[in-house]
Amino acid sequence: MNQAPGYYRYKIGDMVLTAINDGFARRPLEGFVRNAELAEVKAAMAQAFLPADALNITFTTLAIQSGGKLILIDTGNGDSGAPTSGTWLANFRAAGFDPKDVSTVVFSHFHGDHINGFRLKDGTAVFPNAEVMVPAAEWAFWMDDAKMNAAPEAMKGAFGGVRRVFGPVSKDVKQFEAGKEILPGITAIAAPGHTPGHTTFALSSGTARMMVMSDTTNHPALFARNPDWSAVFDMDGPQAAATRRRLLDMVSADKMQVAFYHAPFPATGYIAKSGNGFELVPVQWTTSI
Ligand SMILES: [Zn+2]
Repeated sequence: MNQAPGYYRYKIGDMVLTAINDGFARRPLEGFVRNAELAEVKAAMAQAFLPADALNITFTTLAIQSGGKLILIDTGNGDSGAPTSGTWLANFRAAGFDPKDVSTVVFSHFHGDHINGFRLKDGTAVFPNAEVMVPAAEWAFWMDDAKMNAAPEAMKGAFGGVRRVFGPVSKDVKQFEAGKEILPGITAIAAPGHTPGHTTFALSSGTARMMVMSDTTNHPALFARNPDWSAVFDMDGPQAAATRRRLLDMVSADKMQVAFYHAPFPATGYIAKSGNGFELVPVQWTTSI
């Protein structure tokens, strides 16, 4: 049976944000958290009333309407993900958007679930008129042939995927440094560990602020509650954990609204301290923006 289209709008100052869902991928719990016992992970799942055998990892990107522009942060799985993903384009269109109208695509990092929506398997560019902005540190890592050749066999596919997506536009890609305002009201914040150039984005409009947390955590019920846990996707576990604590501390102290790529839809709320970690408190659904 179908659900309502997976998009949800909210405002940060004058910016209109639209969360756009790209379905989910089922991930067995065995081996998912590198530095916790399976029993502990199952206990955390039970505490959050989630299943004991597998986690449905959801994908939620953001479209930002600001200053007459349509900006995307990340693009979902396209037609390269799990069969339960790939709903992004239908949801994007249901929200009233056309891929031709996207002016800028900003990427948080280069994992497939964030970049593959930019280019279909047959090579089609999904956003033909968009300028492409990527973290310089991420580009430097994934486009380095020496790093690709030295990577373990299991990681070579990820390097190949980055080249598949960005190869045809590599001359036009704009690289940005962390710590800079990359577009009006959008500042890139270095958040390394998940990947070498993993980036979060501080949005600012008038007095309103928000942090796009990208993959600072995978599902918050596991990794906001247990910030020192490391998902297998964290390329440098200890660095990712340090980044996670720093950012979660900051947004909870500042009471900043946050968005996470892998939080339950619409993947936005606030971070409260809880025990030795944190929890995501969802915003209340509203028809008034
Ligand atoms: Zn991800």
